[in-house]
This record gives sequence, C-alpha cells and structure tokens, in this order.
Amino acid sequence: MSRFSLLLATRNRDKVVEIRQVLAGLDVEVISAIERDDLPEIEEDRDTLEGNASKKALVCSRIAQMASLADDTGLEVDALNGKPGVFSSRFAGENATYDDNVNKLLHEMAAVPSTMRGARFRCVMALAIDGRVETVEGVCEGEILFARRGEGGFGYDPVFYLPALDKTFAELSIEEKNRISHRGIALRKAVELIRAHL
Ligand code: IMP
Repeated sequence: MSRFSLLLATRNRDKVVEIRQVLAGLDVEVISAIERDDLPEIEEDRDTLEGNASKKALVCSRIAQMASLADDTGLEVDALNGKPGVFSSRFAGENATYDDNVNKLLHEMAAVPSTMRGARFRCVMALAIDGRVETVEGVCEGEILFARRGEGGFGYDPVFYLPALDKTFAELSIEEKNRISHRGIALRKAVELIRAHL
C-alpha cells in the first residue's frame, strides 16, 4: 500500500518547521507548498480564520490532487478589542514584515498598563481530503510585553509572554513551543483527523 501523502498549504518556512516537528511521528509523507511550483498564491480574503484555512486547504488539495493541511493564525489582543485577529499578517500594512507588525503592536500598546496586556494566539487548522474539509482549533493565552525578548520563533513571538514559564515564545525551542502553543494544540487535534484516513 502506498504511503499517505500530505501537502502543507503554506510557503511560510517558520510554520513548516513547526508543523513538520509535530507530524514527524506519523507514517506520512509530508510535502510543503515551498516544494511545489504549480500552486498559486492564495489570497486570504475571508473574514474568519476558519474561512481562510479552509480555502487554502481546499484549493491546494484540488490542484495537487492530494490531502492538504492549512493553518491560519491570529493574535487577539484584549486592549485592542481582539485586534489584529484575522488581519495579523497585515497589521502594519499589505507587505508588512514581522518587525513592522511587532513595532506597530508595541506602539499601539505603549500606554496600556501591565495588568491589561492579555492576549491569545488562535490557530485554525483545516484538513481537506477529496473535496471535503474539517477544521480544528488551538488557543494559547499570554501577555504582550513592552519590548522584545528572545531570538527564536517568528512573527509576534518575541513580544508574546507566557507568565507560567516566565518566557516569551521566542525564548523557547521549537519542541517547547509546540508543546504549549496554539499551533501545537491544533496540530495534535489535526493528527487525530489524519489518523482516521490512514
Ligand atoms: P497567518 O496565519 O500566516 O495569516 O499569520 C498571521 C500573522 O501572525 C503573521 O504575521 C504571522 O507572522 C503571525 N504568526 C502566526 N503564527 C505565529 C506564531 O506562532 N507566533 C508568532 N506569530 C505568529
């Protein structure tokens, strides 16, 4: 019997590294969109994480004719009424870098006292197989620091602080981050969905 193949519907190398670490224990051939030049850039134009993740998974699965797993993640900041949320990648503008987004977040939060800096990462994973899609979610609670801490991770990791560990995501190894992160939690749920197809 041929091995189950799974296409990760993302070109974000940072996400691919984290996702591969969790899927390493599965007897599945994992390919990412980075290794395929036939997949289009998919516009994230839905107004929910579920909508974007499902769209990416379904489009990639249809074109590549294989099972596809997509992630859409948002940072919800209490003091900003849940923003940037689904717009987290474009918080500082259409072609914003990780640094641009973090700078904008720190600027908007400059006057927010330490007791009111609660935030969470929400990750939705969508698994598309044979034209059907299922979604799972992972949430990780934390706080936004006043300045960056740590060299690891990506995106908003240097300012996302975990009080229980006294560390930011950027101060954790990939394994440590995956154990508690929004993406790690969602991925372990996605693994259960994948197992049902093996
Ligand atoms: P998207 O899921 O690629 O749309 O990501 C939304 C935004 O959140 C991007 O700016 C990412 O850099 C950021 N992001 C996604 N996942 C993480 C994470 O695990 N840590 C920090 N930032 C993240």
